[in-house]
Amino acid sequence: MTDRSRLQPQTLLTTLGRDGADGSGFVNPPLVRGSTVLHASLDDMRERVRRRAGGDDSMPVAYGLYGTPSHHAFCDALTALEAGHRSWALPSGLAACTIAILAYVRQGDHVLVPDSVYSPTRRFCRDTLARYGIETSFYAPRIGADIERQFRPTTRLLFMESPGSLTFEVQDLPLLAQIARRHGAVSVVDNTWATPLYLQPLALGVDVSVHAATKYIGGHSDLLLGTVTANQPAWPALREAIHQYGLIASPDDCWLALRGLRSMAARLARHRENAERLIGWLRRQPEVARVLYPALAEDPGHALWRRDFRGATGLFGVVLAETVKERALEVMIDGLRLFGRGYSWGGFESLLIPTRPERTVEPLPPSGPMFRISAGLEDADDLIADLREGFDRLRAN
Ligand SMILES: *Cc1c(COP(=O)(O)O)cnc(C)c1O
Repeated sequence: MTDRSRLQPQTLLTTLGRDGADGSGFVNPPLVRGSTVLHASLDDMRERVRRRAGGDDSMPVAYGLYGTPSHHAFCDALTALEAGHRSWALPSGLAACTIAILAYVRQGDHVLVPDSVYSPTRRFCRDTLARYGIETSFYAPRIGADIERQFRPTTRLLFMESPGSLTFEVQDLPLLAQIARRHGAVSVVDNTWATPLYLQPLALGVDVSVHAATKYIGGHSDLLLGTVTANQPAWPALREAIHQYGLIASPDDCWLALRGLRSMAARLARHRENAERLIGWLRRQPEVARVLYPALAEDPGHALWRRDFRGATGLFGVVLAETVKERALEVMIDGLRLFGRGYSWGGFESLLIPTRPERTVEPLPPSGPMFRISAGLEDADDLIADLREGFDRLRAN
């Protein structure tokens, strides 16, 4: 294959993960399902096991749990996009978040988690980690250099999520990762919003990047998938935890996710275009107090976003004026024809849900009700017409 280091990310999306093509001439690598792998001889079998134990997670595989060719094709593509050492695909984004924490902590340790974190990750830290004697402190997501004071001798891991998927604070990843490293802690970021196309956390000094590939990477609302990508020092512990917990995604989902990567650049450009059209309309409505989207010049995270990100995707938050009643927002949402009412995001279809972000240490400023839009791939004027009727209902209630 050509020298990849000279290719732009958009080009990589079309070329990566195709090395495993079976010689038949088909553009895409075949979907390989499997558990048992047959070996030509016991020597061959032992050699594959030996190579795996030595840290070689590429093919040849010794058993389905260590990755099928479909799994490796997707993971290798992701590793190149993230500029990491190795990646792994897991059955959900949440499994990716939790294993990226579990891999590095033991009883008595302390972890730092932003107050903007995805709620199920928050609950995992608060409830499950606590049961194993691992303490979590939540910190203000835009804390910056003051994070220093939150580190303890037992702090083993700094978790980040940038921007937060409900409140959209952008974090200073290079600074936080550098401070974590100085304290001997592993840094992990949930990079789902930006995708590896728009943010490469490992290049900024972060140790592990996590994705809910369920969202933009899959892109079609037809799979649940998580990924972890680590740099070289962080990989062995992560790999060991993944294998000991027996975690692997189905080859079908990896195959779909690899297909999702092929069109991701084109989809993301359209998602953003639609998001900006919707935001433009929303900001002209008197009931809208704020739009939470780092690509907006007045967003508090805009400078960091410009410094570190290559683009913006289609997920954003809307804060309504304090005078708007929850009930009016519910009537507005229940009548929408094009926007779906449903969890998740990043698919081809637009979604709109009310949000009520949970906070522990940094309360949100007082405001009216909030909602979140995942801008899909529909025609923006059709979406705006749906919103316009929705705001008519909002005003009437
Ligand atoms: C959806 C989401 C996850 C979890 O992904 P699932 O595949 O639904 O488990 C993790 N982090 C963020 C930021 C998400 O939005």
